[in-house]
Amino acid sequence: MDELLLAWFSQNGRDLPWRRTTDPYAILVSETMLQQTQVERVIPRWLAWLERWPTPEALGAATPAEVIREWQGLGYNRRAVSLHRAARVVAAQGWPDDLTELPGVGPYTAAAIRNQAHGEPVLPVDTNVARIQERTGHAFGPGALQGLFDLGATVCLARIPRCEVCPLAERCPSRGRRYEPTRKQSRFEGSFRQRRAALLRLVTAEPQPVAGLDADAIESLSRDGLVVVADGVVALPA
Ligand code: SF4
Repeated sequence: MDELLLAWFSQNGRDLPWRRTTDPYAILVSETMLQQTQVERVIPRWLAWLERWPTPEALGAATPAEVIREWQGLGYNRRAVSLHRAARVVAAQGWPDDLTELPGVGPYTAAAIRNQAHGEPVLPVDTNVARIQERTGHAFGPGALQGLFDLGATVCLARIPRCEVCPLAERCPSRGRRYEPTRKQSRFEGSFRQRRAALLRLVTAEPQPVAGLDADAIESLSRDGLVVVADGVVALPA
């Protein structure tokens, strides 16, 4: 099945900018952004990020406030703080052998960097990859990674897979099946996440007096290193 997938990918693969680099830092940035943000939204932001901070040293030298500002609009802002901290570790000590020692880097991201930057024979398994493996009953090799990403994003969709255009259809035991709706991301409107985002937007524009602001959101943002409170004023970390 790997060959079928690779042949399909060579004709149908998406031209994503992080596929043209093997720089582990650039891949760390793309993987961090892609964790909870769609590919189309990530592309321009990834390009801008690397133009502004092309190396871990450059990012490490930025202030947390600059990093949080640049991240605005990508959501789940804690990722920006972790990415910044990881860059500082790499800038000071180099890349650790075990990438999961870096802030915000779990086993999936570590495997993604090892595969894409270093060509190591590991297959990071995200929800798309897991879904295709489960449906086909096939254990794909590490070289199939980008093909799996694209097949999962454009053909082997979660609920109604497009088996009629799938390169694996002839050998797939799940061909033609339909699936129950998968769990939706929790609603943003009216959520605590929305309150946090609103407060962070306000503070990003300028420091705010604490009085009258959402105390729970302040505490939560402060715990994540996204804001600091001093002398009755809440601001981005200097
Ligand atoms: S045949 Fe259908 S279920 Fe099987 S891998 Fe292709 S799209 Fe997915």
